[in-house]
Amino acid sequence: MQPSTLVPDGAEVVLESIRSDRSSITLLVHAARSQAICPHCQQPSTRIHSHYERNLADLPWNGIPVRIRLRSRRFFCVTPGCGQRIFTERLPNTLAPYARRTKRLNQTLEGFALAVVRPVPDWRDRSVS
Ligand SMILES: [Zn+2]
Repeated sequence: MQPSTLVPDGAEVVLESIRSDRSSITLLVHAARSQAICPHCQQPSTRIHSHYERNLADLPWNGIPVRIRLRSRRFFCVTPGCGQRIFTERLPNTLAPYARRTKRLNQTLEGFALAVVRPVPDWRDRSVS
């Protein structure tokens, strides 16, 4: 079991601030690294194209819903000959591409789903005592 942390992966994202109201908590985070790897040529780039915000659901804190506002970046690939001109940074330990939930929330929900769909023994099976 991994230790609990405020953010999904402290090596990938940095916590900027925490906001809360009566019904929810919002974590404002950004990527920890100053560069990103182009998914096409696997070369690093530090040349930022633009910023945008992603909103993600995260694990609740003591029953209170938690949202993550991730300030994400698009980079230019500067590798000559690479077919990928612009790409979005990846944070594989925090979220999947296009995800609306953090990876750790998905893993928790998958665990619940597996517990619910576990096969029930057939009452007609006489070999079970
Ligand atoms: Zn590239």
